[in-house]
Amino acid sequence: MQLVEIKEITGIIRLLTGMSIGAGDANIEIGGNDNPIIRNPLTKEVYIPGSSIKGKIRSLSEWYHKKINSEGKVHSCNNANCQICRVFGTGANNKNKEIGMTRLVVRDAYLTKDSKEKLIKLKERTGSDTEWKYENTINRLDSEPMLRNIERIPAGTEFVFNMTYKVLDTNDNAKLDNEYFTEVVLRGLKLLALDGIGGGISRGNGQIEFIELKVNGDDKLKVLSDIKIGG
Ligand SMILES: [Zn+2]
Repeated sequence: MQLVEIKEITGIIRLLTGMSIGAGDANIEIGGNDNPIIRNPLTKEVYIPGSSIKGKIRSLSEWYHKKINSEGKVHSCNNANCQICRVFGTGANNKNKEIGMTRLVVRDAYLTKDSKEKLIKLKERTGSDTEWKYENTINRLDSEPMLRNIERIPAGTEFVFNMTYKVLDTNDNAKLDNEYFTEVVLRGLKLLALDGIGGGISRGNGQIEFIELKVNGDDKLKVLSDIKIGG
């Protein structure tokens, strides 16, 4: 097996709606400002963890490529041709040597220089570089309405996006990895743009767009917009 190529995917993600990525994404407790978003502990600046981006692309791809299992766990199998395991990696229990190493690496996405300055100005003006949004939800047990306070990175904020993808020559054939780059990775970015990142997407949070997308320096925004999901 040989490492044939590493493709570099770079770009800029712009938030179209406020985004909330906190430690307690799925289960937000009631009352209080209890879902603070993730920040770099040194600079205190907001960022999008690569694990959040990769996890979301993986989950959407599992749905798209029919790899969702009935227990709702992260997919993992021994099929060397599996789109999910080849691209995103397998669990520790499934070690098919033919699959080789994880192809996709997703870096943390940090603020662009311009957005960094805008958020500093926002904080000078309002005392905070984020917004707090009250959301009304219904308590499923007693049907009482509840108020939750969600911290969001404001719409318009831009992040530098960076991933790498390894093309491996397995059984003297790099064709499958090249095919999966378009079929799984680029399609996954399209799914991400149609869905969103972070908590509360179905309530309007976390919608994004790619305002720049390059593979090895070549513009791929048109390729992304041409990818059709179903239909
Ligand atoms: Zn698999």
